[in-house]
Amino acid sequence: MWQPEIEAMGRDALRYLQEDRFRQVWAHIWDDAPVQRGLLRDAGAERGDAPSLDGISKLPFTDKKAFTEHYPFGLFAVPREKVIRLHSTSGTTNKPSMGGYTVSDMQNWKDLIARICAAAGVTGGDTAQVAFGYGMFTGGFGLHQGLEQMGVTILPMSSGQTEKQLMMMRDIGPTVLVSTPSYALYLSEAVREAGIKGEIKLRVGLFGGEGHTPEMAAKIEENLGITATSNYGLCELGGPGLSGECLERKGLHIAEDHYYCEIIDSETGEVLPEGETGELVVTSLTREALPLIRYRTKDITRLTYEPCACGRTHARMAPVIGRSDDMLIIRGVNVFPSQIESVLIRQEHIGPHYMLVVRREGVTDTLEVQVELVDGSVLESFPMLEQIQGSIREQIRNILGLTVKVTLVAPQSVERFMGKARRVKDERGK
Ligand SMILES: [Zn+2]
Repeated sequence: MWQPEIEAMGRDALRYLQEDRFRQVWAHIWDDAPVQRGLLRDAGAERGDAPSLDGISKLPFTDKKAFTEHYPFGLFAVPREKVIRLHSTSGTTNKPSMGGYTVSDMQNWKDLIARICAAAGVTGGDTAQVAFGYGMFTGGFGLHQGLEQMGVTILPMSSGQTEKQLMMMRDIGPTVLVSTPSYALYLSEAVREAGIKGEIKLRVGLFGGEGHTPEMAAKIEENLGITATSNYGLCELGGPGLSGECLERKGLHIAEDHYYCEIIDSETGEVLPEGETGELVVTSLTREALPLIRYRTKDITRLTYEPCACGRTHARMAPVIGRSDDMLIIRGVNVFPSQIESVLIRQEHIGPHYMLVVRREGVTDTLEVQVELVDGSVLESFPMLEQIQGSIREQIRNILGLTVKVTLVAPQSVERFMGKARRVKDERGK
């Protein structure tokens, strides 16, 4: 563990620490954050009645809209000269969310990253190939700084240039791969096709920036011969490091000394009990530049406070199954792309790349699953095509209770993603 005195602290002491930090955040917001203060005031809160964390559900939510409306610096709670780094989300048509860090925020961020890397089995003796994009995205620089703090040797490759990524894997022998799961999958296929698995030394994958299913992780592990771990964070709350998997891989440990988490019903806003699936809502407990109370992440997950075999006491969140925004409602059925992915990736003859196309035909919504064959010659065998399509359609119907159209397409014809994957085309309303 990177900070065992915190990561394995008793839950009572942890709660005490959270309460203490929450009172500090409360004061910081009333003193220094006009927008957040306004939201509290509008909801009838007063500076003097700081609630305990048990009463936090009475406070209003913050959401991405606040970042858009008050772009770029409206939510900042420190003078600009105290901000030493800016990052942002990828929005271009809409204004992105601008995130900022003070010296203290930056130090915390490094420690949080070091925690998730250590939890995934990374040590100072490792060499890490960082294939996350560097730039405004929090992933590249975030992981870089935390790994550097641990004494890991870093290959700051950024994303793309797949040939060169493979060359570095063979020549330099990195033991850790950092990327989005979709790019890791792409790289892992390139390694398999080049037949160089035996020549690379990768041991651990640190994957984040988007969710992935266990089946997708298994595919990457098989192609690269590594242990794949998942980590989570978002720009608005300071980037990656909010949570990450330990080697038990039974959920992502949340850095609860820095973040207080709730799960809500995304329709009603009601807080749900432990174990139920809903939207993750996060209150930052230490952030100086950008303190947020009850930020709605839109990410769908569930929490457990059960002790973990690794010895860490902090709560775990299940891998995110989707975003409440990405949830497709098709003929009244809630569909997350990850549910379809988990079916596809178990099939023979097809690759892991797919696209979901939603259309409105008359008054009926339809979902087409376009998925790529591994071997193009299957396209010439009608009985074989029928059999594969039928099998996929049947399994999706079993899971979702929904009949979809399955289209098998030639190898290499579905779009590849160097960063975050965009696997849904919603053509309704066009
Ligand atoms: Zn654990």
